Amino acid sequence: MAGAPPPAVAAQPGDTDAIMGAVTPVRDALDRPLRSLRLSVTDRCNLRCQYCMPEEEYVWLPRRDILTFEEIGALVDAFTDAGVDRVRLTGGEPLLRTNLPDLIRLLAGRTALQDLALTTNGMLLADQAATLREAGLHRLTVSLDTLRADRFRELTRFDGLRAVRAGIAAATEAGFANVKLDTVVIRGVNDDELIDLLAYAGSVDAEVRFIEYMDVGGATRWSTRDVVSRAEMLRVIGAARGPVTSLDEHTSAPADRFRLPGGQTFGIISSTTEPFCRACDRSRLTADGLWYRCLYARTGTDLRQPLRAGASRADLGDLIGSIWSERRDRGAELRLAAGDRQPLIPIETLQREPHLEMHTRGG
Ligand code: SAM
Ligand code: SF4
Ligand code: SF4
Repeated sequence: MAGAPPPAVAAQPGDTDAIMGAVTPVRDALDRPLRSLRLSVTDRCNLRCQYCMPEEEYVWLPRRDILTFEEIGALVDAFTDAGVDRVRLTGGEPLLRTNLPDLIRLLAGRTALQDLALTTNGMLLADQAATLREAGLHRLTVSLDTLRADRFRELTRFDGLRAVRAGIAAATEAGFANVKLDTVVIRGVNDDELIDLLAYAGSVDAEVRFIEYMDVGGATRWSTRDVVSRAEMLRVIGAARGPVTSLDEHTSAPADRFRLPGGQTFGIISSTTEPFCRACDRSRLTADGLWYRCLYARTGTDLRQPLRAGASRADLGDLIGSIWSERRDRGAELRLAAGDRQPLIPIETLQREPHLEMHTRGG
């Protein structure tokens, strides 16, 4: 590597306000800043989506290893000192975490965070949306793969479509603007619903984002045949709804956004056929404190151990900064270049190492 990366601006414990807007994010070896953190608050889930948790049995993270809210707050402070200004809470299913609004309140008070979002399957959202909003959550994304009750059951093993739709309605009522709906598109499963999902999103004032089926984590039944590419989705949508205009936003966000005649917008996340690693500023922290610099990474860094051993905020920030500065991950691009794809991780390996699961890493 030519030359050392610029260090993060040093911060003293407790002076989050003073450094707001002043942190220069650490840049990795490919010049990508550390900005966005996906924070998994639990590995448990109340659905069993066939593309994420298709097995009958799972190995769960030991309870004693799960970070407390205070520990999460301490790690988030260290991450913000290294440049992070956007946090997304995820899981497993984040709304299963007891007293989650307390964590949201704690993080909403960190002024270094410009964006605090949450991704949920929506099953428990109807009861929690107003409380999440009051606690200070900025934005919500709800996963919704189908509008058909029988399909929902086949896809997730639970009879939950009505609850999810009620959750989406409750989110808007609670005052969340620009709710996003995330749809994993799988050939022969829900690829005939793109137009219906667009119409539904329009009717509830949300923006749908179609996600290409990925071969990571628990997607042990993945096959290239099941992937509906971004190009194909655009063809289908264009044929039904008229010319699609790219919004050409050039951001680090994973979704490319498009506009339809009439003004409705939607997104496509093309991680499988047109990955976007070059602009990737995201990393992931599991509920037990392992930090992964790429969704595809086989190994992460244990931040729980130094935290519980008494490392200071400055020590943790330095550790995070120095590790990020050496990051070269381009998992999805390398997978694409390798060709001849199979599911990334065999089931026996996942059972030995649950940190490789999507529901542990937070998607
Ligand atoms: N349980 C919450 C939910 O489903 O919204 C949050 C965690 S989930 C792991 C986060 C996201 O990962 C979801 O939108 C889900 O659709 C996506 N995901 C999981 N497995 C996937 C796969 N094999 N391909 C593409 N997206 C996937
Ligand atoms: Fe489905 Fe999310 Fe649960 Fe995975 S973590 S099984 S995507 S609801
Ligand atoms: Fe970022 Fe890794 Fe996903 Fe590429 S594969 S976009 S580097 S998380």
